Amino acid sequence: MRAARFHSGGEIRIDEVQIPMCPDGGILVQSLASGLCSGELMGWYMERKAVSGPHVLGHEVCGVVVESQDERFPVGVQVSPHHHAPCFECELCRIGQFVHCETWRKTKLDPGGMAEYFGVSQELLGDCWVTEGLDAVTATLVEPLACVAKQLRRLGYREGEKSAVIGLGVMGLLHALMMPGCTAFERNPGRIDWSVKSGVDARLPDTNERFDVVVVCPGSEDAFEFALTIANPGARIGLFAPLPPGKLGFDFERAYMQDLSLVNSYSCGPNDTQIALNWLKSGRIRGEQVVSHRISLSNLPEAYEQMKRGEILKPVVMFG
Ligand SMILES: [Zn+2]
Ligand SMILES: [Zn+2]
Repeated sequence: MRAARFHSGGEIRIDEVQIPMCPDGGILVQSLASGLCSGELMGWYMERKAVSGPHVLGHEVCGVVVESQDERFPVGVQVSPHHHAPCFECELCRIGQFVHCETWRKTKLDPGGMAEYFGVSQELLGDCWVTEGLDAVTATLVEPLACVAKQLRRLGYREGEKSAVIGLGVMGLLHALMMPGCTAFERNPGRIDWSVKSGVDARLPDTNERFDVVVVCPGSEDAFEFALTIANPGARIGLFAPLPPGKLGFDFERAYMQDLSLVNSYSCGPNDTQIALNWLKSGRIRGEQVVSHRISLSNLPEAYEQMKRGEILKPVVMFG
């Protein structure tokens, strides 16, 4: 079968790899759609993943079960598994810190989501969802939207608060859509246009306004500095993406003297996935609002570069 792999040095290739076996107690899934995640464009992060060999891209997935050893997920059913799942039993799981569970970190799709087939282990079935009734593209949004659910939960966000979103890549747009009435700041005119069409109040980053909740989506110092300048005293600032390792050159004194809360949010657990799935099922977010390009697997290497350069918002690979 074919799979899209990140090779050390940054090249994306479509490689021929073995079809995985159905894992013991798990399921084998034939891919329908797989989204390219903005996290997969962070060079330093991907190089880490590729140290032990080419890394299969993709974790925003939707497919059909073709082999099953679990009756909750019979052959023929459409599913969207998360690519990590916790044990639900350890100390960290008990306090709801699922993404720090050892099992969560060890689990992964075999060989990854940007492949024609992938295996979902028994452990991963703890965060695997039947997505019948959702179109395949919308169903690929379960995982990215769950990351938004987690960020908003950690921020204690309440609708109606004076809120801002910085960056209108796909993750910023998802935040903005889930924060009605927010103001969103972006430099790229194409992204502003796209978001305005979805009903978002999107503008260039130039304002005298102040906000009580600010979500910073790009992992850049610029975006973070801008957040500090538009935060009201006592504001909560959500940091959605990491800065490259070793970079934290911000004005901590200002953050301290203004009583700012800095709230980072990494990935998402099954509790967040459940919330995201409900949002999708209720129609609050639809695939076409954030997915700009439906492409074939062979077009992924090109789309990867285009998304990295900010020329396209989000591609989803359609299989078959
Ligand atoms: Zn993702
Ligand atoms: Zn655990």
